[in-house]
Amino acid sequence: MRKKIVAANWKMNMMQARSARFVESLLLEIGDISDVEVVILPPFTAIAKVTEALGTAPNIKVGAQNMHWERSGAFTGEISAALLRDLFVHYVVLGHSERRTLFGETDEIVNRKVCAAHEAALHPIVCVGETLAQRDKGNVDKILAIQLRGSLAGLGAKELQDTVIAYEPVWAIGTGRNATPEQAQEAHTFIRHTLREMADGTVAERVRIQYGGSVKPENARELMSQPDVDGALVGSASLDPRSFAQIVQAAREEG
Ligand code: PEP
Repeated sequence: MRKKIVAANWKMNMMQARSARFVESLLLEIGDISDVEVVILPPFTAIAKVTEALGTAPNIKVGAQNMHWERSGAFTGEISAALLRDLFVHYVVLGHSERRTLFGETDEIVNRKVCAAHEAALHPIVCVGETLAQRDKGNVDKILAIQLRGSLAGLGAKELQDTVIAYEPVWAIGTGRNATPEQAQEAHTFIRHTLREMADGTVAERVRIQYGGSVKPENARELMSQPDVDGALVGSASLDPRSFAQIVQAAREEG
């Protein structure tokens, strides 16, 4: 049985004070949750504040939105897995479509980062997803297979199991237009099938696959009711603690 995982991707938003207030409100809304894993992904500048505000809430983890693959050194402006671990970070989002399109990240770069994250015992959340043009051409499976095989190359069974995949169709991110539950399930089935080919059935069954792309309280439950949708990666709706709490609650009910 896969525990659902719901993550708040704040992107380049949230000052420290607002981050702390968000956590206080979220804790009031969801309490000490154990049936769903909740992850908050603040900008680097608010990670320490969020960790402090969370205190001992055991099932809410903190993640980062990106990192560099090198361990340390002359990489001005970058941040390593070890530096994130030093801030008690558990998860790191890698290969988000904004990084792929705006910052030129290729599957090879994502793969280097994924390997570096595992080496430092950080759990990567690896994003994959097609553009609308690719979907219209009937290339969804082809694109997902290329991204998965490229981004996860060389991982062993344990590392794959400790990786979360986020299926995020690019056309659904920040557009208000989510994939239908059927479209999400279809893509997640294909992702699991590809993982089975890359590793084996046991590993593929254990990997959690989140859906991301305009998830909000109104559509969260239906999306997460699909058998292979193991949670959500939430952007815009995660900036409001009440909306995010409602999405967590939907995961609980569908868990
Ligand atoms: C995201 O950026 O990961 C995302 C899913 O954003 P939104 O929920 O705003 O579509």
